[in-house]
Order: sequence, then structure tokens, then C-alpha cells
Amino acid sequence: MSLRSTAPIHIIGGGLAGCEAAWQIVGCSVPVVLHEMRPLRGTAAHRTSGLAELVCSNSFRSDDPEHNAVGLLHEEMRKLNSLVMRSADANQVPAGGALAVDRDGFSAAITATLEAHPLVTLCREEIVDLPPAGWDNVIVATGPLTSAALADGIAKLVGEQALAFFDAIAPIVHRNSIDMSVAWLQSRYDKAGPGGSGADYINCPLSRARYEGFIDALLAGDKVGFHDWETTTPYFDGCLPIEVMAERGRETLRHGPMKPFGLTNPKAPHVKPYAVVQLRQDNRLGTLFNMVGFQTKLTHGEQVRIFRTIPGLEGAEFARLGGLHRNTFLNAPKLIDGTLRLKAAPRLRFAGQITGCEGYVESAAMGLMAGRFAAAERLAKPLTPPPPTTAHGALLGHITGGHLETIDAGPRSYQPMNINFGLFPPLAQSPSRAADGTRLRGTAKTMAKKRAISRRALGDLALWIAGGDHALAAE
Ligand SMILES: Cc1cc2nc3c(=O)[nH]c(=O)nc-3n(C[C@H](O)[C@H](O)[C@H](O)COP(=O)(O)OP(=O)(O)OC[C@H]3O[C@@H](n4cnc5c(N)ncnc54)[C@H](O)[C@@H]3O)c2cc1C
Repeated sequence: MSLRSTAPIHIIGGGLAGCEAAWQIVGCSVPVVLHEMRPLRGTAAHRTSGLAELVCSNSFRSDDPEHNAVGLLHEEMRKLNSLVMRSADANQVPAGGALAVDRDGFSAAITATLEAHPLVTLCREEIVDLPPAGWDNVIVATGPLTSAALADGIAKLVGEQALAFFDAIAPIVHRNSIDMSVAWLQSRYDKAGPGGSGADYINCPLSRARYEGFIDALLAGDKVGFHDWETTTPYFDGCLPIEVMAERGRETLRHGPMKPFGLTNPKAPHVKPYAVVQLRQDNRLGTLFNMVGFQTKLTHGEQVRIFRTIPGLEGAEFARLGGLHRNTFLNAPKLIDGTLRLKAAPRLRFAGQITGCEGYVESAAMGLMAGRFAAAERLAKPLTPPPPTTAHGALLGHITGGHLETIDAGPRSYQPMNINFGLFPPLAQSPSRAADGTRLRGTAKTMAKKRAISRRALGDLALWIAGGDHALAAE
């Protein structure tokens, strides 16, 4: 089979995910047509015509592969010959333990590499509807600011409710950091509902004094503003940040997400809490719980400070902090299969932020996976997804089914997620002793656990690569 006779894979969007996907595909000797609309049509956040433009911060976050899940994702991507990581490493600027880059150098390196590659055809055009039927293998990687015309086409295909135009992110807490001597498990009015047990929520009680202090802190806390272009979208109307609810009246939250009704604290059945914060299981593994209805524009630092004043959450470790942004993303766990294909139209594969992952690195990693899956399909060499114990497998698993769908009123429960250790299956046995035999406690124990998860991930990734990851063979 001559290389040029292989039909190309079309990628829509030359951002972090699209560029990484293109690189992985040409690494398998399969040609790519990369469609990027800039500079003919811009977005509200991009400023240049460069591929893989970083729209805000120049940081890829922690580069520590032993104790930080995003650092582990970096390391796995390096082992999978990532163009994004290669270009980031080559354009690094000093940033302590973080990997930060010279944004222009980074984007220029990726643009030059792809433009020069003989198997890449770069088309500067906007795709304004679903791709033509003749494109049999397509990756849609158009990001959080997918152009309106294409978003309309996708929404018509998947249903208006299945494509969101903004996110409403409630903080997520690691289950094992919640103090269950203070909190208790109970569903409101003990209702089991479909698939529930009647004890599905973790409840944190507040006395009147604690509630008043909490409201004062919310009102005074530092907030992040909306971008001008975000305030002109109508999408935020139905979904208020908790601090805005508090501004509307000191009792509003008590009659909204913090209502205490239908809940009895078994540890103090005669003391009625004045308000209750509820947390709901977020992933099938049961390691993560989200703070129900707590979308917020408080700064991350303020969220940690203020939410740790809630009884039971004093030692909370946050897997994700809250936010509200303009963001185009699919209800991916329902719509896409384990290799990122749209179940309703498998010729379309999705990658990057539009799948509901969050962040530059995560978007690029999901581009990497989409590229490998698409190339494997083109070459008729099936590729099994990476094990769930790897960072790539954990994130992919979350996007394609690991999130636990709930039917409560309010924002859709699937919301953007960064990589974090809560997405990994728990260890069969957590380390309990240091090398010298002393019992591990506190931070030392947490760090040892993270190291063990990371070691397991890199070991399993190596086995996955060795066990038939055809894409590496061509590199
Ligand atoms: C304002 C803002 C700030 C952010 N800040 C950060 C941050 O600081 N750190 C972080 O980790 N993450 C941040 N993110 C989140 C996210 O990680 C980035 O948006 C990331 O770039 C997503 O990668 P992507 O490849 O999915 O999308 P993008 O990198 O946005 O790439 C999508 C590409 O598709 C193109 N495109 C769109 N529609 C079409 C079409 N119809 N036809 C052809 N081309 C099209 C766009 O021009 C763009 O080049 C931010 C997001 C936004 C919106």
C-alpha cells in the first residue's frame, strides 16, 4: 500500500488537541488534512494565526511526575512521542516546579513542524457545518470556542441539550478528605430515587452562626470577573454563582443549594442544622464528591479558604475548584465511545476540550489518543485503549463513562475536569511504611500513595506500549 494512496484523516481545529492528533497520525504514516479557521475567522480569545496558541496562561502546570497527576500526564505524553510536550520542553522558561513555556516559540515550533511535514496538508478555512459525507474519518478538535456555525451543526446532530455553551463547575472533593465524624450520609427525605440507596449524599451541617460567617466570607471574598465577550452571552442566566445568590439575600442559599430540609444528623438528631452543604458522588470509583450547586467565580485561593470553614470540610482536598466560563463541550460520557467516536456517527471522533476535559495538557493528551485511535482505524489495526491505571486511561475513562450521571435539577452533572489522582482506580494496597520500616502518617503517607499510583501508571503504560501499540513502530 503506497502511503499517498491511503485516504487522509481530516482534523478540524489546529489547537492543542488537533495538532497533537495530526502529529500522532502522521507518525503512523497516514496523511492528514488539518483545517484551521484562523486567521480568516478568529475567536474571542485567540490573538494570532499560529497553531496551538495558548489563549491565557503560559503554564502547563506541575512537571512533577511522582506527586502530581498533570506531571504524570506530561511524562506519559513524552513516552508517547508527543509533539506538544517536545515543543514545550524546547521552549521552557523558568517557573520553579511548573513547566511554563515561551508561548510564541511554542506555537511557532508546532506550526513549523506540521507545515513542513510531507503528510500534513494545512487548510486555512472554517468548517461551517458537519463535515461532508465523503470524509470517512474525522477528528473534531475545535475547542471551547468552536465557531457558531459548526456548533449549530453538532447540536443538531447530538441534540440541543447535549452540547453546552458554558460550564458551571462545582468544586470536587476527594472523598477520603471529608471528616465523616462530622458529616453524614443521607439523601433528602431518604428518597432512594432511580439507582440510589436513600443515603447517597454526604451532608455537612452549619449552625446559624457558621452560616452567617460563611455568607459574610462569600460576600467579601475575591472573585474572578467574566471576560467582556462572556457577559454578552445569554448562557449564564439560568446558573448563578453561589456568591451572586448570597448577594440577592442572606437567606437565598438556605432556600437553594444549602437548604437543610429533609435531613437529620444521626449524630445529633435533635439539633436541626440551619443550613447543609451536600456533596454528591461524581465518579463510578466513588473517590470524588462534588459540592452540589456550588458553581462560583471566587478565586481558587478564596474557594479553598472559605470552603474549608464548612464543618466536615476543614481538611478537604480539592480535585477540582469551581468556575463558570464560556465553554463548548459535549455530554461526552453519554455520546462518545471508548475510542472517542460519536456513537451516533462513528466517522466523527472528538478530541480536546470539547470532550469535557479541562486544560492545555489534558486537551493535548486527548488529541494524542484520538490521533492514535483514528490512525489505527485507518490502518485496520485495532488499538485497545490504555489501561485505566495510566493517566491517559484514567482521563479517557472519565470522559467516556467514568462520570456518574445524576438527574438533579440544576446544571448538567457532567462538567469539565482536569486530570487528578481521584480519577485513578485505588491501589490494591496503599503504602503504610517507609523504606526504614517506620509507619507513614499525614503528608508523608499521601505522598507515598501518589508515588505508588504514578509508578503503577508508568509501568502499565510501558506494558501497553510494548503490547502492540503499533503507532510507536512507525516513529
Ligand atoms: C479564555 C480561555 C482561557 C483558558 N485558559 C487556560 C489556561 O490558562 N490554562 C489551561 O490549561 N487551559 C486554559 N483554557 C482551557 C483549554 O485548555 C484551552 O482552551 C485549550 O486551548 C483547549 O485545547 P483544544 O485543542 O481543545 O482547543 P483550542 O486550543 O481552542 O483549539 C481549537 C482550534 O479550533 C479552531 N476552530 C474552531 N472552530 C473551527 C471551525 N469551525 N473550523 C476550523 N477551525 C475551527 C480554533 O481557531 C482553534 O485554533 C482556557 C480556555 C479559554 C476559553
